[in-house]
Amino acid sequence: MSESFEFFRVVSDYVEKASDLIELPNDVRVVLSLPKTELIVHFPVRMDDGVLRSFTGYRIQHNNILGPYKGGMRYHPDIRLEEVRALAALMTWKCALLEIPFGGAKGGVQCDPALHSEGERMRITRRFTHQLGQDIGPDHDIPAPDVGTGPAEMAWMMDTFMNSGGVAQRNANRAVVTGKPISCGGSQGRVKATGQGVAHCVEGWAAGKTRPVRGLRVLVQGFGNVGSHAALVLHGQGAVIVGVSDHSGSIASSEGLDPAALMAHVRSRGGVVGFDGAEACSRAEFFGLPADVFIPAALENQVGVDEARTLTVSVVVEGANGPTNPAAEKILEERGIDIVPDILANAGGVTVSYYEWLQNKRNERWTLEDVDAKLETAMKRAYRRVRDAARDRGCSMRLAAYALAVDALREPYLLRGIFP
Ligand code: NAD
Repeated sequence: MSESFEFFRVVSDYVEKASDLIELPNDVRVVLSLPKTELIVHFPVRMDDGVLRSFTGYRIQHNNILGPYKGGMRYHPDIRLEEVRALAALMTWKCALLEIPFGGAKGGVQCDPALHSEGERMRITRRFTHQLGQDIGPDHDIPAPDVGTGPAEMAWMMDTFMNSGGVAQRNANRAVVTGKPISCGGSQGRVKATGQGVAHCVEGWAAGKTRPVRGLRVLVQGFGNVGSHAALVLHGQGAVIVGVSDHSGSIASSEGLDPAALMAHVRSRGGVVGFDGAEACSRAEFFGLPADVFIPAALENQVGVDEARTLTVSVVVEGANGPTNPAAEKILEERGIDIVPDILANAGGVTVSYYEWLQNKRNERWTLEDVDAKLETAMKRAYRRVRDAARDRGCSMRLAAYALAVDALREPYLLRGIFP
């Protein structure tokens, strides 16, 4: 992408436009314009070769008027404060849109998890958690997985936090993170939840066009947690996965790829390239593959002007956070390509994270069927609300989603007033 991308500025512009649309009072705009807390920590970790290295970690707490801060932890070599700030803000809007009583936060560590052994990743995670101390907590700020982290990191975070508090609080502290392994208090259905939510949005979009999901040709960029599960669920409904790309390269098959086999290939080979039965293609060829649905599920700013001109699809369903830059969005709109925005499309993850937190709080275990049914209801309701608001206001689904989300924070601020 040649265009510059100031992620927090981009999200702030969406909020500003939505605030104009709903005539949000200026006082509330001022409060919402910046995160409440920004933590930067530096901490030492012993590497396997005995050398001590210093790492930098972030936790940005954007807003908590609706409930405890909530949001993922990203491990990536290029992570920046500005990016985490934007991701934290997106969590506020996502939770508000889904009517989940959580606020928004995001964090992470500047590191490349692929270059670290399991032992090093564990020590990085434990020391980072220790350094955050009481700035996270089950009723204060609840981390979850994001790019470069998963259930293993969440188990280490939870264990470190549980062992740092009093013995009597140990069980209550289990809810400090979500996305844990099921045996450690995680929820059924959490691993696939974001991808499943993406699939519900594809279903919603297809229903609006009176098209069946069966037979839809789908392109997926990023084959990690979100991309692989979205592909798996859609493939299960008869969609055809015609192209997949990740950090290793891009592959295509007009007959369709088997996501389960591709997941096994990625587990053993580290990337999608070299998968049997698919042809390698360039990044530009990948974006030009004939398809109906494009699911960006990698990182932000992946769809720029060139990609927007190249895509042949009818809809972009944003599995990733911030994948489409504003210049590209304009082109997609001009070309009549629909966009299901990130704060709706990838909200399945935080929705099931909320269910996990509720199960921990109540000492309950819900069945997969129960979680799946609740997630489907929540995603379909949110999809309908955004679709109807876009129709009623004559605006894009992104603007409609932001308008609904920002509006959910208006009344609490106006009723409570600004302290002191
Ligand atoms: P992940 O680490 O599991 O997977 C990331 C994928 O992106 C990998 O397949 C990687 O190879 C690929 N990738 C990285 N750089 C790439 C590039 N330049 N081109 C193509 N592919 C590239 O991460 P994830 O959890 O699946 O998250 C993906 C996106 O979804 C992120 O934007 C994240 O913030 C968002 N998200 C994740 C969750 C969740 O529950 N995990 C929830 C909501 C949103």
